Amino acid sequence: MLVVRQKQPRRFEEDEVTFLFTLAAQLAGAITHAKASGELTGMEEGLGAPARFLQGLAGAGGVGIGRAVVAYRKADLEAVPERECGDPEVDVALFQDAVGRVEENLRGLKAQLAPDLPSGDLALFDALLLMLGGDTLVTETIGRIRQGEWVQTALRHTIEEHARIFDRMEDPYLRERASDIRHLGRRILMFLQSEQPQQGGYPDNTILVGEALGAVDLADVPAERLLGVVSATGSSSSHVAILARGMGVPAVMGVKDLPVRRIDGREAIIDGYLGRIYVSPAPAVRSEYQRLAGEDRELNQELEALRSEAAETTDGVHVPLYLNTGLISEMSALGISESEGIGLYRTDMPFMVRDRFPAESEQAASYAAVLEAFAPRPVNLRTLDIGGDKPLPYFPVHESNPFLGWRGIRISLDHPEIFLTQIRAMLRADTAFGNLRIMLPMISTVAEVDELLSLIHRARDELLEEGCDIRVPQIGIMVEVPAAVYQIEALARRVDFISIGTNDLTQYLLAVDRNNPMVAELYDEMHPAVLRAIIRVVEGAKVYNRPVSVCGEMAGNPLAAVLLLGMGVESLSMSAGSLLKVKWVIRSFSRARARQLLNSALRMEEARQVRDYLQGVFEDMGLGGLARSGK
Ligand code: PEP
Ligand code: MG
Repeated sequence: MLVVRQKQPRRFEEDEVTFLFTLAAQLAGAITHAKASGELTGMEEGLGAPARFLQGLAGAGGVGIGRAVVAYRKADLEAVPERECGDPEVDVALFQDAVGRVEENLRGLKAQLAPDLPSGDLALFDALLLMLGGDTLVTETIGRIRQGEWVQTALRHTIEEHARIFDRMEDPYLRERASDIRHLGRRILMFLQSEQPQQGGYPDNTILVGEALGAVDLADVPAERLLGVVSATGSSSSHVAILARGMGVPAVMGVKDLPVRRIDGREAIIDGYLGRIYVSPAPAVRSEYQRLAGEDRELNQELEALRSEAAETTDGVHVPLYLNTGLISEMSALGISESEGIGLYRTDMPFMVRDRFPAESEQAASYAAVLEAFAPRPVNLRTLDIGGDKPLPYFPVHESNPFLGWRGIRISLDHPEIFLTQIRAMLRADTAFGNLRIMLPMISTVAEVDELLSLIHRARDELLEEGCDIRVPQIGIMVEVPAAVYQIEALARRVDFISIGTNDLTQYLLAVDRNNPMVAELYDEMHPAVLRAIIRVVEGAKVYNRPVSVCGEMAGNPLAAVLLLGMGVESLSMSAGSLLKVKWVIRSFSRARARQLLNSALRMEEARQVRDYLQGVFEDMGLGGLARSGK
């Protein structure tokens, strides 16, 4: 509470009030950060402070107690986190080596440019070399390291301090020197980072934390050491959250007040059900979470017993459960034996982790590995769906509205050579196994489907001419754009199967960016409009007898799965971590009971009511633990 008093009795002016609002808002932000990073711990403990946590969005279920490790952008001095050093002398040596290499590099550059640049411009190099050679920058950094700072943190502090001095200078020429200092800092940092790979720096129970974590950041952590994922941006349907679910680790997304730079190395508790992070938790909180984690483990053991059971309703309807994978194919074997095939293989990851488009033979080899692992069970390989939140480093696309822009098959159609290469690779991979099905994402018009089908036939004809013994697989589309919902009959007529991508469908129906934490509370797959859109798809596809499955994250949500069952969705495809939970749900209801629940849910006007209603039903049946922590 901010209390302001004045000696003279008078009303505060309006501009004074707004000034105080502004001040209070800024102070509140700073205090939240300081609390979260533990800097206020000492002050608060005496006051019996309540358990502190940072609130984000539930990304992937599960709880865990571990240590925060910050993943940050490389070659960016500002992003370097506060970290303590292990052995100061090792860090000092690293630093001196990096400085030596920058000096060498600058001299080399100067010599290289000397014939072409006027000597005035070359003086810049002399100035940089002088700063490096001059004592202060180097000795100050070494001093900080010896006081316990990690080499990169020490460098950041020294550079910031020097740059700030120049920033404040009146003379514009001297002020410009601030950017030279920052430039120099970045160069030293680059050399340091090339010598200090993060691998090996991950403790056993790593909670990976970042401003905007990407799939590649996760791939960097050895799977057995990853305990949780926390991102300042994103929401439950961001690809990082999906990836976390696939790996069976909790995730909290969109933590707006996350003090990323100051959290590194601290003990933390992650609650992926409630979307909370506790930094440097109080002992009582820690022991409560130890208990909950224990109960979660027990629940998982009970789930294990379902592994060999059929996914059948109590009245004997078989609902095949498929696996969503691809983002993690290289990292995990989870879900291979529990699922009846792959309902969604995201082919994007092999494209994202390389520095160029993978060749046809490289792609064919990786698809063959997936087809083989599951044969004879069906595998839906989805064609490339880059764009949106999945950029390719070597194929930059700059758009103000990436989710409404050039993504998915829109890129494939504008670059048929990329699409044809991928289809050829898929068809070639399938020759030995025969379980391939091709799935096309982001369809919004029938013309797109017609054109893609003719490209697929062209790839088939080429391969047949080349003497390959291929067959034409089943081809399906994903319904992810509202336009496809309302043209479902025309689309269904053209293809063999339909799979509903509820992550994007929810985003586009509700006009809520799936990665934007500011509007994440509006993002809800239980929204009555989403439920009705799915029903519309099921009915439309029935006209042409096409099977409908759901492969968005909704299928893996135990509460939602029962509604999908009631709607007559034939199969569900989900992350590995959800398979057994959803199997439990399927085995607990009859189709008729699911229809009843759906009818009740459809009478509700808000997502929250639907959710609370279903949670209540689950609690009554002893299934509550499937959708929250504890049993
Ligand atoms: C979806 O949109 O529901 C989907 C499954 O695709 P992705 O999450 O890869 O966009
Ligand atoms: Mg999608």
